[in-house]
Formats: sequence, C-alpha cells, structure tokens
Amino acid sequence: MAAETAASADLPATAEEITLTVKWSGKEFTLRVIGEDTVGELKRRICEVTRVLPQRQKLLYPKFGSKIDDDSLLLSQINIKSSLKLTMIGTVDEDMIVDPVDSPEILDDFEIVEEEELDIKDKEINKQKLRRRVDQYKVELLNPCREGKKLLVLDIDYTLFDHRSSAEDPLELMRPHLHEFLTAAYSEYDIMIWSATSMKWVKLKMEELGVLNNPSYKITALLDHLAMITVHSDSRGVFDCKPLGLIWAQFPTLYGAKNTIMFDDLRRNFVMNPQNGLKIKPFRKAHSNRSSDRELVKLTEYLLDIAEMDDLSGLDHNKWESFYEESFKRRRRHS
Ligand SMILES: [Mg+2]
Repeated sequence: MAAETAASADLPATAEEITLTVKWSGKEFTLRVIGEDTVGELKRRICEVTRVLPQRQKLLYPKFGSKIDDDSLLLSQINIKSSLKLTMIGTVDEDMIVDPVDSPEILDDFEIVEEEELDIKDKEINKQKLRRRVDQYKVELLNPCREGKKLLVLDIDYTLFDHRSSAEDPLELMRPHLHEFLTAAYSEYDIMIWSATSMKWVKLKMEELGVLNNPSYKITALLDHLAMITVHSDSRGVFDCKPLGLIWAQFPTLYGAKNTIMFDDLRRNFVMNPQNGLKIKPFRKAHSNRSSDRELVKLTEYLLDIAEMDDLSGLDHNKWESFYEESFKRRRRHS
C-alpha cells in the first residue's frame, strides 16, 4: 500500500474532469471542466454551447452564494463537484455588439518576471489546460494555409485598432499603414488575427476595416476569446493568455515555435510562448496619434528582414527596434 501511495504522488498532476450540467433558457447542457479551471473559464465553456457571452452570464447555485460571481476563483476553491446542476441567466446579444472585455486591468500591462514566465509555461497544469483547449477549439480557416510561409498572429485592440476612442467612421481608429503592412507581411507570412473578444466582434471589426476582403492579402484565420486559457501567477493572480500551442497543435507540419511571431500590446498574452511574442507599442488616442504613428511601417521592415531566416527561435523580439535600426543602416550602406 505504501509503495502505491508513493508511486501516485510521483505522477504528474493531471486533474480529474468534472462533469456539470448547466440549465439555461429551459435547456440543459453538459460541460466538462477541471478543478483548476476558474469561474471565468467555466463561463467561456458555457458561452461555447449557449453563445451567451461570459460578461452577460449570471450563474446561480444557492450554496455557493456570491463566490460564483468571482471569475478569478478556481472551481476547486468553491468546491464545484461532478454532477452538480447550475443555473445560468443571460441573453444572447443578437444585434448588439458588445465592447471588448470591459475590465480595467486590460489597460495596464503588468510585467511578469522572467523566472515566473518560464514557470507558467512549464507548469503541467497549464500544459494540460492547453491540451484541453486544443481538443475543444477548432481553428477555422478562412483561406488555405500556404506551405513554406511563416505565421504572423496579430492582436486587434490597441495593436491594429484603437477601440477606446470614438469616431463616426471606424477607419479613423485604424492604426495607420495597416493595409500596406498586411500586404507586405502576406508575401512571407500567413496571417491570423486573435482577439480576446467574441468572434462576432472580431469579424465585424475586421470587415469594417476592410481586412477580410482586401484584394492584396488574405487572412488565414480568426481566433477569439474562447481559444484562450487562464493561467495563474504567484505575483499577479489569474489572467488569460493566448497560447500559440493551440495553433501549432492543429497545424503541426506548417507552424511551430521556429516560424511564428505574434504581435500584442499586452506581454502577458504570450506568457505561454514568450520567445514568439513581440510587444507592440499600443495605438491609443487615435485622433492625435494618427498622423505620427509609424510602428507598422517599421515592423514591416523587421518582419521582412527576419523572414529570410529559417529559424526565428534565436531572436529576442524585445530588441526588434535595434535590429531594425541596424538593418536600416546596412541597407543605406549598400545602396
Ligand atoms: Mg490588445
């Protein structure tokens, strides 16, 4: 007996699945989660089957009281167990376009210390969350992947678009040089767009900006909040991130750590693959910055420069600007 206990203690922590029933609008849905999932993640799973956005859901289970309103709590912390029946109240926003995740912490990018970054990426529980998400989330192709191309993954809010300013025409809030940037990048990269909002909003935004039907480039796929996972950091609590492993697992012969780069204004979004992330300067206050913002012009050069390399995994994208300055000088010398 003692030997058995010792052996099981050595096993990697693979959390057991919890099967729940959620009642909503006269129907019942069965969901599979794990104790390490947060209430916020449970709401995303509910969103997948009901289409009610997480921020529109109110979960009810009298015994849990208000604990079930706290998106950051783990299901194990509120003692959610298998075969439990929860009630959800909420409506699908058919015509309304909900402003992206309205949480204030999205505005300030907190830094996660490097050691902790490595820790989060390598934690067995996070790898397991990623595997579960790979099983649950299918990346739908708008256009075929192209053999031999690298992969560029782009965030929307504050990366391509200032979603906080208001304007009569959304084009006024588009980051300058966006179409030229995408056109140039498309010559060497397949392009996917991944936003922490609903797919409806992602599509609408990209259509409004003329990104989905541009004759000069094609978008390979769009991803939304349901493809994200929630991780825990000791210093910052729980937060959501965009694990590139979800894409790599679905296209293993085409994309991987060696040929993928992701732009996001929030560094924590690439905590599961820090080497592949490039933190872009946020594009805010579009009305005053529209005439001066040249980030996408500079980043075009960077993307095209590094596209010549077979393997991007030796690069430190934190230093992209000095790489860009150097190659600018090189080009000047040679011309
Ligand atoms: Mg953003």
